[in-house]
Amino acid sequence: MTAVDAGLCARWMAATAALVTEHADELTALDTAIGDGDHGLNLRRGFAAAAEAVGDTPGAVLKAAGTALVNTTGGASGPLYGTFLRRAAKALGDDPTATATAFAAALGAGLEGVRRLGGAAEGDKTMIDALAPAVAAFTGDDFSTAARAAADAAASGRDATKPLVARKGRASYLGERSAGHIDPGAASSALLFEALAGLT
Ligand code: ADP
Ligand code: MG
Ligand code: MG
Repeated sequence: MTAVDAGLCARWMAATAALVTEHADELTALDTAIGDGDHGLNLRRGFAAAAEAVGDTPGAVLKAAGTALVNTTGGASGPLYGTFLRRAAKALGDDPTATATAFAAALGAGLEGVRRLGGAAEGDKTMIDALAPAVAAFTGDDFSTAARAAADAAASGRDATKPLVARKGRASYLGERSAGHIDPGAASSALLFEALAGLT
C-alpha cells in the first residue's frame, strides 16, 4: 500500500479508539501510579469522538478528529493529541491522497506541534518519548513498512520511559518517585501507532 486516503485516516482513528478502549484499564493504572488515574477515561472519550470524524481528504479527516479530541478530552493529553492531528492535517493540505513520504512529513509537523505546545523534550518521560522515535522511524515510500517500523519504535520508546524521572506533566510533581513506571501518554502513543500499523 502506498497512498493514504481519507478512508484510511478514518480507519486509523477507529482502530485507535478500539485499542484505547481495549487498553483503557491499563492506561488508567499507569496514570494512577504517577498521575491522577484518568488517562484511560480521557482517551476513551476523546478517541471515540475522533473516530466519528468524516471528511473528503486525509487532511479533512485528521483535522476533524483533532478538533474532536480537543473538544472532548479532559486533561493534558486531549489538547496534545488534538494538536498532533491538527498539525499533521495542516501539513497534508487539501490533497485527496498522500504518499507515504508526505504522510511522514505530516507526522513530523504533528510532533513539532506537540513539542511546542507541551514544551517537553525526549527523556522528559512524556508521550514525546514514544512519538518522536515513531515519527523518526516512519521512513521510506512503502506505507505498511514505515508504519510497522514506527509502531515498533513507539513501543520501545514507551518501555524506555520506565526508569525515567518525569520532568513535564503531572508525573513531574512526584520527582524521583515517578521512576519505575511507564508513562501513560507514551503507552497511548504506542497504541496510536500500533493502530496505524494494523491498518495495512
Ligand atoms: P492529566 O495529566 O491532565 O490528567 P492525562 O492523564 O490524560 O492528563 O495525560 C497524561 C499524559 O500526558 C502524560 O502521561 C504525558 O505523556 C502527557 N503529557 C503531560 N504533559 C505533557 C507535556 N507538557 N508535553 C508532552 N506530553 C505531556
Ligand atoms: Mg491523568
Ligand atoms: Mg487529569
